[in-house]
Amino acid sequence: RRSRNMVILARGKRVKRSSGKGKASLSTKRISINASAKRIRPRQPILIYGKATFPDKTTLTLRYKKGRGGWRTLKTLSTKNQRYKTKVRLNSASRYVFALRKGKTASRNMIVYSRGKPVKVVRKKKKKKSRGRPLIVVDPGHGGRQAGAIGSGGLREKTVNLKVGLKLRNYLKRAGARVVMTRTNDKTLSLKARVNIAKRVKANRFVSVHHNSTRNRRVNGTETYVRRGASKTSKDMARKVHRSLLRNLKLANRKMRSANFYVLRYNRIPAILTEASFISNRRQAKRLRSSSYLDKEARAIFYGLKSHMEFGRLYTPLAIQGTSAPASDIHFANVVDTNAYWRSIVSIKNTSAILQAVTLNFYNDNGTLLSSNNVDIAPNKVYSFYPKKILSAEFSGSIRATAAMPSLVGQLSQVSNNNKAIANVQALQGSTELHVPHIVDNSSWKSFVTLKNTADSLGTATINLFNYDGTLAKTETVNIGPQAKYSFYPQTLVGQAFSGSVEIMGSTPLVGYVNRINVKQLRLGIAPAMIKNSEHYFAQAPENSAWRSYISIKNISSNTQTTTISAYKADGSVAKKTNIEIAPKAVYKIRVAEIVSSRFNGAIKISGQSNSLAAYLTQTDKKAKTLAILEGQQGLTVVDFAHVNDGGNPWNSEIAVSNTSGRANVNIGLYSGGGTVLSSITHSLNENGYYRFYPFETVNNSFIGSIKASTSNNQAVGYLATSR
Ligand SMILES: [Zn+2]
Repeated sequence: RRSRNMVILARGKRVKRSSGKGKASLSTKRISINASAKRIRPRQPILIYGKATFPDKTTLTLRYKKGRGGWRTLKTLSTKNQRYKTKVRLNSASRYVFALRKGKTASRNMIVYSRGKPVKVVRKKKKKKSRGRPLIVVDPGHGGRQAGAIGSGGLREKTVNLKVGLKLRNYLKRAGARVVMTRTNDKTLSLKARVNIAKRVKANRFVSVHHNSTRNRRVNGTETYVRRGASKTSKDMARKVHRSLLRNLKLANRKMRSANFYVLRYNRIPAILTEASFISNRRQAKRLRSSSYLDKEARAIFYGLKSHMEFGRLYTPLAIQGTSAPASDIHFANVVDTNAYWRSIVSIKNTSAILQAVTLNFYNDNGTLLSSNNVDIAPNKVYSFYPKKILSAEFSGSIRATAAMPSLVGQLSQVSNNNKAIANVQALQGSTELHVPHIVDNSSWKSFVTLKNTADSLGTATINLFNYDGTLAKTETVNIGPQAKYSFYPQTLVGQAFSGSVEIMGSTPLVGYVNRINVKQLRLGIAPAMIKNSEHYFAQAPENSAWRSYISIKNISSNTQTTTISAYKADGSVAKKTNIEIAPKAVYKIRVAEIVSSRFNGAIKISGQSNSLAAYLTQTDKKAKTLAILEGQQGLTVVDFAHVNDGGNPWNSEIAVSNTSGRANVNIGLYSGGGTVLSSITHSLNENGYYRFYPFETVNNSFIGSIKASTSNNQAVGYLATSR
C-alpha cells in the first residue's frame, strides 16, 4: 500500500527584520530556505537547505509549527561558506511550517503539508516579465456534463460559449494579448477550477462567456455582469464590453448588472461575465448557430476589451506613412503589381467638397504611356484599384493622377504575395531637389532609389552620394526621359557596400522613392525622397518591447548646423530636449531610446537654423526583421490618409495627429470608402501635443476608409501605422 501524497508549498512572505539596536550590519542579512524533495511520503527525509549571508560559522535556529500549534525549536544549525543544510522527517500527515532565525533576522516561512492531493511542489515563481502584454483568461461557461441553457432545437449553451470563446481568443492573440482558456474542448470544469486557473497563471483579466435563458421565449437582449461591489476596473471593462455588444449585435439593452456569480465573486482580478443574448429566444438560437454571427459577437467583446486596455501591440510587420497634403498633380513613382512578389493597391481620394474629374495615366519604366483613364470621384470618396486589374496585365511603372483643383491625396499600399509584409507610401508632387537622409545597401539590406521625371520633356538628374561624415563618395549625372523612371543601387554606383545619404538635383521636377528590401525580398520599407526644411516632425516614435525607432538627420547646407531634437508627451510637454552639431552634408543617426528612454511613444521635432535639414524615422521590430521608413513632415492645414484599414483581417491601424504650433482644435473625420462620414471627433491640442487613436474604437467596428484631420492653425502632422 502506498501512503497519501504530500504537498509542499513555499508560499510565505519573506520576513526581513533588522536588528535595530547597535549592529546595523545585521540589517542586510538574509536567510533563504528551500526543500529538496519533490515527492515525499511520511517518514521520508526532506533536505532543507539554503543561504544565510552571515559571517561564516553562524548558528541558526530551525523552528517549526505543526498543525495549529505554536512555534517550537527543532534544532540548531551551523553555516559553512554562508550555506547550511539539514534533514528532517515528517512523522505524520499534518501541516508544518519551518523557519530559520538568527537573532532578529528570520527566513521566510516554508509550509509543508499533506492533504491527499497529487504530489506537487509549489514555489513562488519569479515574476515573469509580461512586457506590457496583458494576460486574459477566457472562460467559456459550462461544458461536459453541464450543458448550460438549452435553446430551441436543442442548441446547447456550452457549445455556443466555447465557439465564441475560441474566436475571442484568436482576436485577443492577434492584438498582442496573452490568452489562457479555462477550456478549449467539451469538458466538465468546476467553477472553482476556473477561478484557480486565473490565480495560477496570474492573469490580469477574466472574461466569462455565457448566453442567457428564460421561460418567456420572446425575451432577448444583452446583459453584462460584474460582481457586487466590483472595482472601478471591472466596471470599466464591463461598461465598454457591454456598449460594444449593444452597438454590434443591436439587441435590446438589458443593462450592465451586478451579481455574485462564483467566477466573479472569487476572482481577485477584474472579471466580467457576458450574456450577449438569449439562447432561449427562437430567432436568436437560429442566429447562434451561424459561425459568422458568433464571430461578430466575439469581435464585439474584443472591441470592448480593446478600448478598455492596451494589448501590447506586438503586431508584425508594419508600415508607416506620414502626412499627405492635397494637390492637383500627384505621382506614384514606383508601382509594382505582379504575381511574383508584390501586389499594389493604389488609393486616390478627392478631399474637396465637389466632384472631381480625375485623369489617371499609367506609364511603363521608359515613360511610355500605357493607358489613360478618366474617373469621376465624388467628394471625400476614395477610388482604389489594383493596377493589374485595370490594365489586365502585370504592371511595373509609375502612375500620375491629375485634377483641375488641388484636391487629391493618394496612397500606395504594397503588400507581399502572402500578405505578410506591407509598405505604405503617399503620392508625391515633383521637386527639383530631393534628399534621402539615410540609405543602406549592403549584404543584409538592399536599397535602391527610384526617380521619376514628372515633366513631358527630357530631364537631367545629378546624383550625389555622401558618406555619413559628409564626404562625397560619388557623383553621377543621368538623363531621364519624359515621364520615365531611373533606378539605382548605391552599391552599383559606388562599387562597394554603401550606407550614407543621397541628394538629387534635377533640371525638371522629379519625384523619388527609396525602397529598402531584405535580401530575400520578404520585407520592405518605402519612403519618399524628401524636400529640405528647417523643421521636421514625427507624430510618433515608438520605443518599447516590440518596436525600435531610429532618427537620421542630414545637414544639407554647407555650414555646421546646431540642431535641436525635442521629444514631446501627448499633452505637449517636453520629455527631453537635446542640441547637437551636424557637420556640412553629414548625417546624425540616433536611436530614440538614447534621446529619451527605452519606453517612449511620443512626438519628435527636429529644428535647425535654416532651410537645411532632411530627416527619416526608421522603425524596426526588435530583431530588425521588419522595417518601415518615414520621412520627416511639416505642418499642414489638412492631414489626409486615403486608405486606412483597422480591425479588419489581417491589418490594424493606428493614427496619430500632432499639433506642431500653438494651441489648436483638430477635427477628425472618418469616412467610408464611398465618402460617407462615419464618425467625427474634435480634439483640443496643446502646442506639440498629439492625439492617438484606433479608428475601430471610434466607429466601434472594423474600419476601411479614409481619415481627414483639419486644424485651425495650419500646423498638423499625421502618422498612420499599419500592422498585422
Ligand atoms: Zn450560462
